[in-house]
Amino acid sequence: MITSNGYVFDMGPSWYWMPDIIEQFFKDFGHQTTDFFELVPLDPQFEMVFSDETIAVPRSYDKLKELFETLEKGAGARLDTFMQSARHKYDVGMRELVTRPCYSWLEFATPAVIRSVFKLNLLSPFRRYVARYFTNHKLKALMEFPVIFLGASPKNIPALYSLMNYGGYVLGTWYPKGGFHELVRAMKTVAESKGAQFNTGCNVEQIITKNNKVTGIVVNGEQLEFDFVIGSSDYQHTESLLDASLRNYGEHFWEKKLLRPLA
Ligand SMILES: Cc1cc2nc3c(=O)[nH]c(=O)nc-3n(C[C@H](O)[C@H](O)[C@H](O)COP(=O)(O)OP(=O)(O)OC[C@H]3O[C@@H](n4cnc5c(N)ncnc54)[C@H](O)[C@@H]3O)c2cc1C
Repeated sequence: MITSNGYVFDMGPSWYWMPDIIEQFFKDFGHQTTDFFELVPLDPQFEMVFSDETIAVPRSYDKLKELFETLEKGAGARLDTFMQSARHKYDVGMRELVTRPCYSWLEFATPAVIRSVFKLNLLSPFRRYVARYFTNHKLKALMEFPVIFLGASPKNIPALYSLMNYGGYVLGTWYPKGGFHELVRAMKTVAESKGAQFNTGCNVEQIITKNNKVTGIVVNGEQLEFDFVIGSSDYQHTESLLDASLRNYGEHFWEKKLLRPLA
């Protein structure tokens, strides 16, 4: 974030989808979002620029349906069907999938997931799924857009992720007044109230291990011991801090990967 002449410029994120997730974070600690900042719904949510026109995505779902109907006859009603399914995936996905620690695939085999395995469209590619509902190329682009935030291509990602369309177009696009940094500040305040200590400007140079267990890190040349270490930098970089024999993937693996940003 930089400030100039009283204006605040976010250098990274500026708005967010799925406000219920952030609300739940604050609720877990006896707070609510409004204790820290005002959350402004954006209307239009954003604009999509095509070579011949710019389409503004309205906040109101009814207006969104009208927009779809204008571009393609019957698309308004099909949007309803699409979003009903997307809502189901959002409910199951957020409750049953996203919150798992990911130690094993078996964590995802919960009764709710098994019951809805076909409804979740785990095996249909997203692009083909969208094409089942809409033929207009602008509507297809609009509906494929949300999964780009996962760093994925609509061609390859499963249609389960239409949950993103529900999280974005139905739940809306929200702007923390004062800039995204207000959210960072709020989370830091909550963490500090629980005893967390923040040390910024520290470069982690190495993750130390003993008998295949992480025991600490080297920061600015100093060895520090910890019971647990959580690495939140990207996977490739985090692994590069471990001894080469303990990495899951070698240089050869990463050379073949296309790394993309995600939200
Ligand atoms: C221009 C831009 C606009 C965006 N707009 C949006 C938006 O509007 N809404 C949205 O939801 N998302 C947006 N995103 C995406 C969002 O910023 C990212 O998804 C998010 O920041 C990822 O968070 P993270 O904690 O996983 O990783 P990061 O934010 O990358 O955090 C990782 C941190 O680890 C630190 N680090 C790495 N290696 C080390 C080391 N060895 N030692 C010490 N520290 C280390 C890094 O300095 C960094 O601070 C945007 C991104 C960009 C670039």
